[in-house]
Amino acid sequence: MIDYEDALARVLAEAPLLPPEQMPTEQALGRILASNIVSPGPLPPFDNSAMDGFALPGGAGVVPAGSEFDVEGECAAGEMPAVTSAGAWEVMTGACMPFGCDAIVPIEQVEVVSMHADGRPARIRLQVDVPRGQHLRHAGEDVGTGERVAVAGDRVDAAMQTLLIALGVAGIDARRRPRVVVITTGRELVADPAIPLRPGQIRDSNACFLRARLQAAGAEVVGVCTIGDDADVFSAHLRDAMSQQVDIVVSTGAVSMGRYDFIPDALTRAGANVLFHKVRMRPGKPILAARLCAGMLFFGLPGNPASTAVGMRFFVEPVIRAMLGMSTEQPLLLPLAARYEKRPALRMHLKARVRLDTDGRLGVHLLDGQESFRIRPLLEANAWAVIAADVKQIDAGTCVQVVGRGHLEPIELT
Ligand code: AMP
Ligand code: MG
Repeated sequence: MIDYEDALARVLAEAPLLPPEQMPTEQALGRILASNIVSPGPLPPFDNSAMDGFALPGGAGVVPAGSEFDVEGECAAGEMPAVTSAGAWEVMTGACMPFGCDAIVPIEQVEVVSMHADGRPARIRLQVDVPRGQHLRHAGEDVGTGERVAVAGDRVDAAMQTLLIALGVAGIDARRRPRVVVITTGRELVADPAIPLRPGQIRDSNACFLRARLQAAGAEVVGVCTIGDDADVFSAHLRDAMSQQVDIVVSTGAVSMGRYDFIPDALTRAGANVLFHKVRMRPGKPILAARLCAGMLFFGLPGNPASTAVGMRFFVEPVIRAMLGMSTEQPLLLPLAARYEKRPALRMHLKARVRLDTDGRLGVHLLDGQESFRIRPLLEANAWAVIAADVKQIDAGTCVQVVGRGHLEPIELT
């Protein structure tokens, strides 16, 4: 049995950085960048008007109220920039700033002194003083050419996708998503939720859990299968997964000390290199990790739902992050709402709810029902609280490490 930190370090040492793949920016939502992105040009791309109004010819000092200008023409968004001789130009929001102009006066702040026959303004008078540069958006004011706007390891969210599209970055390099196969084991399991259970049978809830959590963590689930406690069938699925060159195989069940816990032997027979088996933690102590072959990892998670959840959150997810080139996740430190005591020298992963207390402060509430067979507390939990192995008690108000349900999911306060 080893400590969590040592166990995690062993698998991280075997986790390869996945190769980059090019894709259109439009399809990159949720993907992790494989390279930095610098702006190929200025944003906005040209000087333009922030208002519907009139561009005034350039000069020194404030243009005083009462000044009058002939209107030379009109310039809307999308049109070629105009050039002023000495007069004003009617401009719409987003229109190129006419060459020779240097301030915008909003339409509400001018009086139209005379009009052309078609109703367009011919001469205007200012009702207010107009400072130079007013209501002008300068080229590159938002993002300058060559500025770094994103770094490798960043996740493409809607904001980043929007900026990249605005800059004309049509394609990006994303890390290939880790390809994962899930094998749930147990002769008691029934995969199809519509089939009635015979006595002694239970539903295979881990399969659905892992599929959802893996996808939320940025992995591509290429297969999920439910098998009995049959080492030969397991070995066949393992060989299949290896021939498909997946990055990670996750199994549940059959890693404890029971008669049907066949996975450690099956792995040895398959030539896998077991990195650890049993970690000083709860739940999920019997967890096993192995290197199947170069760059291919195996996680054997214990079958109890909370043990599977902890193995997924605290081993598989950090490995997915490493494969995607993301930095190590930083837990939050938040105050515990009530005193907590524990006996065993195990690192604890506790289902928790982070709540806003009445005084507006965040507090970590450890939930009832921490037993590893329970599924229902997972609904109430919006976080995991982590208590180090050597800690025996924690007073209310003392900060503990807290992470969200998934490494890409912030703690949702409702
Ligand atoms: P095991 O790790 O195989 O000893 O299983 C531990 C406990 O988890 C047993 O009560 C199993 O019935 C239960 N279990 C195993 N696999 C699953 C699964 N896929 N879904 C729900 N419960 C499971
Ligand atoms: Mg079992």
